Amino acid sequence: MSKIREMDLQYNLHSWSAQANLHPEVITKSEGVYIWNEEGKRFYDMSSQLVNMNVGHGHKNIIKAIQDQVEKLAFVGPAYACDVRAEAAKKVVNVAPDNMSKVFFTNAGAEANENAIKIARMVTGRTKIFSAYRSYHGATHGAANLTGEPRRFPAEPIPGFVKFVGPYAYRAPIAFETEKETSDFYLSLLRDQILYEGPDNIAGIFQESVVGSNGILIPPDGWMQGVRDLCDEFGIMMICDEVMSGWGRTGEWFAVNNWNVEPDIITFAKGVTCGYVQLGGVIVSEAIARHFDHNVLNTGLTYSAHPMGCAAAIATIDTYVEEDLIARSKQMGALLGERLNQVYNQHPSVGEVRQIGLFSAVEIVKDRETREALVPYGKDPEGTMKKILGMLRAEGFLTYSHENILIIAPPLIISAEELNAAMDIFDKVMYAVDSIALNKSEIETTA
Ligand code: PLP
Repeated sequence: MSKIREMDLQYNLHSWSAQANLHPEVITKSEGVYIWNEEGKRFYDMSSQLVNMNVGHGHKNIIKAIQDQVEKLAFVGPAYACDVRAEAAKKVVNVAPDNMSKVFFTNAGAEANENAIKIARMVTGRTKIFSAYRSYHGATHGAANLTGEPRRFPAEPIPGFVKFVGPYAYRAPIAFETEKETSDFYLSLLRDQILYEGPDNIAGIFQESVVGSNGILIPPDGWMQGVRDLCDEFGIMMICDEVMSGWGRTGEWFAVNNWNVEPDIITFAKGVTCGYVQLGGVIVSEAIARHFDHNVLNTGLTYSAHPMGCAAAIATIDTYVEEDLIARSKQMGALLGERLNQVYNQHPSVGEVRQIGLFSAVEIVKDRETREALVPYGKDPEGTMKKILGMLRAEGFLTYSHENILIIAPPLIISAEELNAAMDIFDKVMYAVDSIALNKSEIETTA
């Protein structure tokens, strides 16, 4: 075994895993859309790591900005002002929806959501927090309680967290004719739930603007505006978690821009610095910013608005602009959409493909008619999805999965040539996936 892997496994605890049978790829180098392992094998990074390396690996301007900052002023506490702290906040606010006014910087996404929960409670004086099933909002206690899937369980229970069912037409019990019909149905359920939980008790409704890890669930037209209207009607804060969907991923600075809706609070992380160093934050509306003019913002972090994070954020946001990456995400997204449609047409194990910008998912099913998922919910005893990821990895295509869903979300810098080459690999591996998925259903029906 590789010496590095051996030492890694001896001393590191790896996230979300039983440790005994792990075999982490040892990565030694990365550049653009590629990463290399110890043996020199090159992979397409088709999930941008954890959907955060939007500008790709090894970007020289961001590296230089961090190097310069560490020499100039590595750290100063959050009570002080400094040039990069001021400029990073201004740049974030400038690309956010028009009603947004100020930023509270955190270290990453979970912390951003923790602080958004507190801000919504401080502003409204209410306690309950709504969030959707089939969502991921982070692993700390509050963020995990927002999370609408089993990764929440070790952090439960905390009172006051209420889950609702968000739109997911493919798995709905009703065959909706239009997106509006879909939105109306789910909005009517949400309205009832608000009424029965007591609107005066509800501080905020959290949602991922486009659900990420749980399968790229793109809200139907009318949903975002409908949630905005419910929040206005009942004085509830509308909070969009853009940790994964923000920073160009969907072809807009923030995914909520796709529906021209202005939330009260946006949380972000990942693509603001693309992992060169870590940073997250909470952007608040002008009205919330004014609230805190004379009310204490009762929160804080030693590393809030860390100068290194702020310097990286400035260079990263400049990179999005200089390389026109937001428009590029839309352009390359159109090509990705074409390739995914081909995959759907070619492979009977694909139940649905979903794509917005360079954010996409492929649902693997045993049977297109019944839509039965390749692996039952919450279980994959034979490690079938892991096997599929391994087949992709062996061909040089790295990504991850959730339940029966494969995520494809490459860096926004990917060229048409690179995207086509990577999707050729995907298409090739899908022939083997077809036989796994279809054989399985045969075995089970004859048993
Ligand atoms: N929110 C969303 C939508 C995410 O996808 C994630 C992480 O994947 C988080 C929050 C948590 O962010 P972090 O892991 O930086 O704490």
